[in-house]
Amino acid sequence: MALFVQKYGGTSVGSVERIEAVADKVKRFKDQGHDIVVVVSAMSGETNRLIGLAKDITDNPDPREYDVLVSTGEQVTISLLSMALKKRGLGAKSYTGGQVRIHTDSSHTKARIQSIDTSKMRSDLDEGNVIVVAGFQGMDDDGNITTLGRGGSDTTGVALAAALKADECQIYTDVDGVYTTDPRVVEGARRLDKITFEEMLEMASLGSKVLQIRSVEFAGKYNVPLRVLSSFQDGGGTLITTEETDSVENPIISGIAFNRDEAKLTVLGVPDLPGIASRILGPVSSANIEVDMIVQNVAADQTTDFTFTVHRNDYDKALAILEETANELGAREVKGDNKIAKVSIVGVGMRSHAGVASNMFTTLAKENINIQMISTSEIKVSVVISEKYMELAVRALHSAFELDQADSVAE
Ligand code: ADP
Ligand code: ASP
Ligand code: MG
Repeated sequence: MALFVQKYGGTSVGSVERIEAVADKVKRFKDQGHDIVVVVSAMSGETNRLIGLAKDITDNPDPREYDVLVSTGEQVTISLLSMALKKRGLGAKSYTGGQVRIHTDSSHTKARIQSIDTSKMRSDLDEGNVIVVAGFQGMDDDGNITTLGRGGSDTTGVALAAALKADECQIYTDVDGVYTTDPRVVEGARRLDKITFEEMLEMASLGSKVLQIRSVEFAGKYNVPLRVLSSFQDGGGTLITTEETDSVENPIISGIAFNRDEAKLTVLGVPDLPGIASRILGPVSSANIEVDMIVQNVAADQTTDFTFTVHRNDYDKALAILEETANELGAREVKGDNKIAKVSIVGVGMRSHAGVASNMFTTLAKENINIQMISTSEIKVSVVISEKYMELAVRALHSAFELDQADSVAE
């Protein structure tokens, strides 16, 4: 008999029929004698719909009220699932984040979980109940409702699993595991039986939204056994693990991540003086804009070109700030491009193999894809390219690093 925390995502609870199917699945686990805590997302599309309503009223919704609004989607699914479980003869109790004492800081829209009081859940479990908790939400010191950022129900699941010392946190979604790359983009993508926390964290941060980044961080930190599985079909899914398999058998690259979320800004012909990077980026960070990649180049004439990327949503704001700074610094020109994509190869095998980056660059060159920026870490290489070549780049790299399914034909 085990204790499982099972998180069901938006598509998995996207209709009453699907909620009934989740209830059937939970009942099967209960019938086998397991204790189950369920975390649910809002029905698919609902959180976007709620955000749309707020935006119809104002471009800048008050963060406290925004959280009160967007947390309602999950309240619908916890109650419906609990009704469906009761219909099947199970004891079930639904709870909002605040009711189950998921205590967070007060950073509305991106709050962090600080503690969870498990006493109530323990006594409910002891009485044989299935506990159904609203994902994505918590409560701060003053009793305000907070939310954990988009995709935050994954983090609720992992945090509950850590607090309850569950045997496994199971993330049920609309794919049957973590793939070498998004299976909706590359047909030949292959499901991985296992992936390390480190690799999963890179994949998530570089754009693979199958798991929220914070949930992977949390699981790594608290050693929560974490598995991604399909809610529609049976199977072992993908285990996220600390174990690195034998490097002889290990592929060098485990996966390819990509995203279109960034935009690039360049200031050309800035005097090359000490402190220039902070003069350029200082005003950007003061405006609360996060910078991702940075490249600086010195030209022969003692000036420098300085390029950095920001989230695409911050592009207009960052461009306006940079134009002002460029004026003050006497720079030659400011350029921007919000039609870029970042493509990254990820794998712990890179540590023990040379030539991985050059293989990546050669593959892209063969496809005539121009690399605009490069950044590397111990286990990843990322490039910025034009958005229109993103899918071509991902497919070409997927084949070049032999990630395709055995029976799929490379393009
Ligand atoms: P949920 O609503 O269940 O939380 P998400 O849409 O957040 O589901 O995450 C599942 C989606 O993640 C899949 O439908 C898939 O398109 C996408 N995805 C991106 N990268 C990967 C990957 N490497 N492996 C599996 N799925 C991926
Ligand atoms: N419903 C929230 C969202 O759409 C949280 C989640 O699904 O994990 O972002
Ligand atoms: Mg998700």
